[in-house]
Amino acid sequence: MPFGQDRQMFPVDLSCAKCGAHISELPFQPSGDRKVYCSECNRAFWQDKRANDRGGFGGGRPRGPRQMFQVNLTCADCGKAITELPFEPSGDKPVYCTDCLRARKSR
Ligand SMILES: [Zn+2]
Ligand SMILES: [Zn+2]
Repeated sequence: MPFGQDRQMFPVDLSCAKCGAHISELPFQPSGDRKVYCSECNRAFWQDKRANDRGGFGGGRPRGPRQMFQVNLTCADCGKAITELPFEPSGDKPVYCTDCLRARKSR
């Protein structure tokens, strides 16, 4: 398989920031203040990243309906009853119904 035919390589004289292997060329111009890794470490990095992106090991919050907190409050603006909130009410802050919240944001 032909290698790097249409890819410009920049000749460099660097060492991998992870394993210390010598790097003689890079597919991009090194900026100097950025760490560079050899192809081996790069591949390992992307494999790790892809594994993490798939989730399953913590990281990344689950999607779905937001948790709603059951409350028994009244809107500080119009006095309408509020039975649930998308956040835990702190008690010392006025809460507003969705209508008033929307009106306040668009104001
Ligand atoms: Zn390396
Ligand atoms: Zn209201």
